Amino acid sequence: MSNDILFLAEFSGGKPARSALELATGAAELASQSGGAAVALAYGSGAAAGAAALGAHGATRAIVLGDEDRPAITYAPAAVAASRDAGLAVLAPATPNGRDLAAALVGTLDLPAFGPVRAARVVEGTLETEQATLQGRVITTARPADGAPTPSIVLVLANTFAPAEGGSGSAEVSEAPAAAESALARASVAESHEADAKVVNLEEASIIVAGGRGVGSEEGFGPLRDLASALGGAVGASRAAADAGWIPYQLQIGQTGKVVKPALYIGAGVSGAIQHRVGMQTAEHVIAINKDPDAPIGEFADLFVVGDLFQIIPALTDEIRRRKGS
Ligand SMILES: Cc1cc2nc3c(=O)[nH]c(=O)nc-3n(C[C@H](O)[C@H](O)[C@H](O)COP(=O)(O)OP(=O)(O)OC[C@H]3O[C@@H](n4cnc5c(N)ncnc54)[C@H](O)[C@@H]3O)c2cc1C
Repeated sequence: MSNDILFLAEFSGGKPARSALELATGAAELASQSGGAAVALAYGSGAAAGAAALGAHGATRAIVLGDEDRPAITYAPAAVAASRDAGLAVLAPATPNGRDLAAALVGTLDLPAFGPVRAARVVEGTLETEQATLQGRVITTARPADGAPTPSIVLVLANTFAPAEGGSGSAEVSEAPAAAESALARASVAESHEADAKVVNLEEASIIVAGGRGVGSEEGFGPLRDLASALGGAVGASRAAADAGWIPYQLQIGQTGKVVKPALYIGAGVSGAIQHRVGMQTAEHVIAINKDPDAPIGEFADLFVVGDLFQIIPALTDEIRRRKGS
């Protein structure tokens, strides 16, 4: 058994997803603890040309599963062939594509599964993961049972690892071993186009401005978008705002929405119900803007601003723009 740490690296148009950069650095960190190498399983359009550059973020090697624009799940048979007995762990991003491929690996190879985790390490040769459970009230540390097969499959939340920047290394690129015939590979993309700019990848944003019922309307999200754009962040929402149709469901944060882990979460007109909190509580810093001084979000916010969001947010945006000179 090798001590390598593999990770899924999705590409589109030759560019790696941010999750690929985060996992390259995470895998390198774990590999330095396990005494193995960080190995990318690169897939998607332009993966063959782009994979070597993952070396700058920590990958030693890259195995190209395929290089075409096709549904992520069609890469499952190649990922299975490359992962069989291949190392200590395979890290997958906790994104829809990452979850699909992780599930296929677990199901096909009958491997132990962990996640979505917010931390991982290798302790005395054993993988250890940290996960929030019971609606975030309990943090659980888990490891594979003695004698469990490897690699363990680990779903990793966005922003768990910060991508190493400024590196100049180049990963050694190779082709994936031949995959078994599988119906999973038999799907193709009929058409694709840029998504609505309002539906950005929330899970990868490092700054999120989330609006709740207090925002009051679809137009009410305008000032939140302005603030998010001034900060270089993304807009999210509570379920109340998504249910009201003010914002797409893809941007809902919480138990039945996305789980996010930004460096900064700003909640405006969000009360902080437990079902919302479980989706954002691992944010590094939480700022809440609410006109009710007793709103539950005040209990766990780092900074609680009591007041009307429609006065505070535009003033904040103006001040940020003024300081940035934009
Ligand atoms: C099974 C289940 C799953 C759920 N899943 C989710 C989930 O994934 N995500 C989620 O978010 N919720 C979820 N919920 C719903 C959750 O329980 C809450 O109802 C919801 O989070 C409340 O949204 P809110 O904070 O926007 O609204 P509210 O609780 O109504 O809070 C609105 C807040 O806005 C403030 N406000 C009003 N006007 C202003 C203003 N002008 N300026 C400043 N503040 C103002 C008010 O003081 C209030 O605190 C779920 C519920 C259930 C039962």
